Amino acid sequence: MARERRHKVADWTPEPEQMALWPGVSGNALNGLGERAPRRPRHVYWAAEPETLPHGAMQRWFYARNTAPELAQARAERAALATEPLAPLAPGPAVQRSPADWAAAVKAEARRLGAEAVGIARIAPEWVFEGQAMPWRMVVVLGIAMDHALLATAPEPASGAEVVRQYGRGMQVSKRLAGWLRTQGHDAEPEHGPLSGALTLVPAALAAGFGELGKHGSIINRELGACFRLAAVLTNVDFVEDAPEEFGADDFCRNCRICEDACPPAAILPDKQWVRGVEKWYVDFDRCLPYFNETAGCGICLAVCPFSRPGVGGNLVAKLARRRARAVTGE
Ligand code: SF4
Ligand code: SF4
Repeated sequence: MARERRHKVADWTPEPEQMALWPGVSGNALNGLGERAPRRPRHVYWAAEPETLPHGAMQRWFYARNTAPELAQARAERAALATEPLAPLAPGPAVQRSPADWAAAVKAEARRLGAEAVGIARIAPEWVFEGQAMPWRMVVVLGIAMDHALLATAPEPASGAEVVRQYGRGMQVSKRLAGWLRTQGHDAEPEHGPLSGALTLVPAALAAGFGELGKHGSIINRELGACFRLAAVLTNVDFVEDAPEEFGADDFCRNCRICEDACPPAAILPDKQWVRGVEKWYVDFDRCLPYFNETAGCGICLAVCPFSRPGVGGNLVAKLARRRARAVTGE
């Protein structure tokens, strides 16, 4: 049974100018909050064409509002990276390797290109956004580390600029990794933030062994905590897949409320919720979005999470492993 707990009260109110753009439909309803039957996700935010979404006017407001010099600089650098072309698909027979050798090779290349984490999953239909085609069977998920000291400046623009920079790096790594596969005769497509592609990457990363979903709605990885961004490469190469990984983060979240208490608009729900047929931790979109928009991308919850903190996260993971070992041996 869920523990009795008073939900934190918001200590912040959004600007009327932004809320005048609110579409009158809840992002939580679009996300499928409260739905016990599985269904494919809908695009709710970060669309390439924002006017196609109910909250699209707020997405445009985000970019118009947040124009601090460090953000503008990071966006310009990312735009420059976006011009790098995807390597052409090599003609002729594709390079042959066993699925295990392909998995090892693509992971080694991903790390050589700069990814700090990498895992592989077979794409499930329920990860594909409604209305999107998915011609690919496999996803190589990439973890791109952020600088914790910069993230910890959230909600200042320096934190948002670091997010932009690392999305740019994720784009570069995913394009180059897709290009590496293409030069060997295997077609591949990069997918990267901040704009949504056809695949929702969080469930793919969980299946690919990245870690566990935290109460703050982001993945907690045993090495990176929640201090990273996701990117991916989609392809039909037959890889050996990875398995989901548990190290005790989900259980730890049940008794921790650091992110809940730190979230100014009180968007982090204290208990798991049903979302499109899965019971999981959930962030209230309608509360998070206005604050996120007014603060260049917020990220407070990711920075304060103990698993994200250098020198703390690793010790915590080791402590959880010792606790689990004691539980198994009965000591
Ligand atoms: S990003 Fe900011 S507003 Fe959103 S849940 Fe995290 S701390 Fe709260
Ligand atoms: S701050 Fe605590 S409750 Fe929130 S995600 Fe991290 S470990 Fe879980």
